[in-house]
Amino acid sequence: MWKTRKLKILIFYLLLLYYNQIMRNYFIRAKEFILDTLFPKFCLNCGREGAYLCQDCFYLIDILKVQYCPFCFRPKPVFDGKTCILCRDKKALSGLFCASSYEDRIIKKIMSQFKREPYLKELRGPLAELIIAHFLNLEIDLVSFFNENTILIPVPIDIRKMRLQGFSQSEEIAKRLSVFLNIPVYSNVLIKIKNTDIREKNIEESFRCENQRIIKDKRILLIEDVFTMDLKMEESASVLKRSGAKEIWGVAVCRGL
Ligand SMILES: [Zn+2]
Ligand SMILES: [Zn+2]
Repeated sequence: MWKTRKLKILIFYLLLLYYNQIMRNYFIRAKEFILDTLFPKFCLNCGREGAYLCQDCFYLIDILKVQYCPFCFRPKPVFDGKTCILCRDKKALSGLFCASSYEDRIIKKIMSQFKREPYLKELRGPLAELIIAHFLNLEIDLVSFFNENTILIPVPIDIRKMRLQGFSQSEEIAKRLSVFLNIPVYSNVLIKIKNTDIREKNIEESFRCENQRIIKDKRILLIEDVFTMDLKMEESASVLKRSGAKEIWGVAVCRGL
């Protein structure tokens, strides 16, 4: 008798949970439908309704099949994906994954809008997918490269800028990549402490590592939206290396001009 009652209560709770889940999904779909009807999305390249980057235009983007040295960007790609032999000794970045180039017509249109809502939230997924497509083009063994020793860290912007704009493009992409690759992202390990211009020489000591325990002996993927041959990523890598990271790789949607 007592057991039957317990079983009934359990079934009731399970049904309630199931009902809640159905209603939740229903409300999410209804919200999306209303938003799409009131504010339809148009592809930033071809103007077709449905998404800010439609599938057809996504496949038109020239996704790189090779890697270049992040510092000299010699016309010849590097064979092992690593920083070239001439730059290697002086630099902390082990290499760079750059999905495409700012010279690509569609990338240029997308990145010029990836600065404000609603584009920021809507485009971070497709941009992370572009990076994944680049990894796949390189035929990297994703399972062994992105192992349990790998973590993602976005290249930080300074606190004042973060307060002003309320988001960081690099962090948005890093969060999506983290979901796709199933590896953790840490946004509060590397902090920008000085508001220096990326081209200034005094960029040194602009970054600080807040939690050395998290990065110890880790392979770090430093995420940036546009890689612009600046000192920002290298300086970030150098701080992480000094703080105990094993190796640091740059990852960017595109290389800037
Ligand atoms: Zn399109
Ligand atoms: Zn080089």
